[in-house]
Amino acid sequence: MHMNAQADTAAGPQTHEFQAETKQLLRLMAHSLYSNKEIFLRELISNASDAVDKLRFEAITHPEWLGTAVLSVDLVPDPDAGTLTLRDNGIGMSREEVIENLGTIAHSGTKKFLESLPETDRGAREQIGQFGVGFYSAFVVADEVEVVTRRAGTDTAVRWVSSGEGGYTLEDAARDAPGTDVILHLRSEEKEFLDATRLRHLVQRYSDHIGVPVRLCLRGNEPDTLNRAAAFWTRPKTELKDEDYQQFYTHLTHDHEAPLAWAHHRVEGTLEYTSLLYIPAVAPFDLWDRDQKHGVQLYVKRVFVMDRAAELLPNYLRFVRGLVDSADLPLNVSRELLQGNRAVEKIRAALVKRVLDLLDTLAKDKPDDYEKFWSLFGTVFKEGIVEDATNKERIAKLCRFTTSTHSDKPVTGLDDYVARMPAEQKGIYYLNADSVTTALASPHLEGYRAHHYEVLLLGDRIDEWFVMHLPEYAGKPLVSCESGAADLAPVVETAEQTRLEGDFKDVLERLPKTLLGRVSAARLSKRLTESPACLVSSDDGMSRHLERILRDAGQTQLGKVESVLELNGSHPLVKRLLDAKDAAFVDLAEVLYGQAVLAEGGQLEDSAGFVKHLNALILGTSTAAAPSILLPD
Ligand code: ADP
Ligand code: MG
Repeated sequence: MHMNAQADTAAGPQTHEFQAETKQLLRLMAHSLYSNKEIFLRELISNASDAVDKLRFEAITHPEWLGTAVLSVDLVPDPDAGTLTLRDNGIGMSREEVIENLGTIAHSGTKKFLESLPETDRGAREQIGQFGVGFYSAFVVADEVEVVTRRAGTDTAVRWVSSGEGGYTLEDAARDAPGTDVILHLRSEEKEFLDATRLRHLVQRYSDHIGVPVRLCLRGNEPDTLNRAAAFWTRPKTELKDEDYQQFYTHLTHDHEAPLAWAHHRVEGTLEYTSLLYIPAVAPFDLWDRDQKHGVQLYVKRVFVMDRAAELLPNYLRFVRGLVDSADLPLNVSRELLQGNRAVEKIRAALVKRVLDLLDTLAKDKPDDYEKFWSLFGTVFKEGIVEDATNKERIAKLCRFTTSTHSDKPVTGLDDYVARMPAEQKGIYYLNADSVTTALASPHLEGYRAHHYEVLLLGDRIDEWFVMHLPEYAGKPLVSCESGAADLAPVVETAEQTRLEGDFKDVLERLPKTLLGRVSAARLSKRLTESPACLVSSDDGMSRHLERILRDAGQTQLGKVESVLELNGSHPLVKRLLDAKDAAFVDLAEVLYGQAVLAEGGQLEDSAGFVKHLNALILGTSTAAAPSILLPD
């Protein structure tokens, strides 16, 4: 177990130590939150409101758990005792749950967050805002926190007490009804949080959108509801301001950066539901975690039923946050039931459309924000080309690329590209590489540059699949610069080409024998202007980059894929092949092949061999007759 229980007498409190991570979080909290200390109230109200939501949900199967009292979150300031109590009649916690929830950081997201923390405190301070600070924020204003709680469906209560340093104590307690009291013993300098006006103001500022009534309970007065207490998304759009949407987003996601965009819709008819979808301005740290479910929250008739309902949106839209409140699903809906449910399928299709509409508008009206969206989520979004055949065109339109002529940022859409195409250009050209930088340096671009043709530089892994699933756009075929079939008009003049073909006939026949097993054919290139050589895939073969990805992924049964070596007949190094004899020819062939592999970001199978051949050429030791390549003729 993670805590050290020192067994006391049966009646007295038991002392427990906090888990190491909890201590770490508490320390961080004290240092980083002070300037924003009032958010403890939002955090504790949010927990209490979650507890009420959970009770409503569990009461579907245990109706007797709902008493006659209104479900609410009450704020009870006590100036004499110097305490502020947050009282809810929600689900409560059992002894085990208290240990689990308040003594350890069980919440897997929180744990991962802590693991991902940078070494320095400063980085942590910046990140902590992105992530819900939760219960422990209470210690920013209180030097002692007491929790008295009773789980619905049980008779016994438990008291948890801690000063937020080494650990906490636990003992049996009494509570009339299920629910939780969080009693904050405020530090002497924090007594402002006993003030009714201050509390009212804070609740309206941070917790107005909470669906549960948050009430101020002053001694001798009737409880006074401070917030609107209607589920935020049920309110008419006309009544809601940007700040309201932003505030609700913070409540929903614990993300303190304002979202880039949102869409709020109410649908009535054969299906009845409300959706509220947000595009975040920061990527969650678990975006790439395959085990982590992503998705929006699901409510059924205002009752919260599921977090991260991945079934409501396709995987490529997993960055979207928000919620759906459906009137057509049963309250006891399970994940299994969501799969293949007709209503869910219809909602899902509509949500996809909404997100795409939202992104269209963002791209059109706020290009800077769209750029931000793309840098955060572009690689995820591109998966849509593979995953969502129905919306392929729309997805393609929203994709952004780095190109050979606009290479500093991925801002070029396919529509921009097509609009810039010279009249005679036939296809949309692209080049796959391990990174945009490698692509930009590739010899394959040379001929396209000479023609002033723009080339999409694809550096993400998903891009190989992207182009496979998008054979054309706007009636133009997507063509790889690297494949032998690229239909580029020759850069070299025809007469010159014919003359070179004659000169190089023997060399071209000899090369595949010298480079046996790696090169199936050699030919003169019409595309190279500066580099001496490059490799292309044979016309029917798999792209060389894809082959490399598959091989890196451990696909060893691929077999040997041979490439075509293309030579630049005007390059001095290549011309040297014409006169090279035996050993010198081999050295030259190996060096030309090796640098073609390196130029596309590939790995040499025999790098020591390559170096030997290269040194022999430089030193002129291949044969007595071979001059050094470093000396001018
Ligand atoms: P989070 O709310 O993100 O899960 P917190 O640190 O705010 O993290 O709370 C930790 C856990 O403690 C909650 O998930 C919940 O299980 C439990 N908890 C906190 N406050 C209450 C409450 N008022 N009633 C019931 N459970 C609570
Ligand atoms: Mg919380």
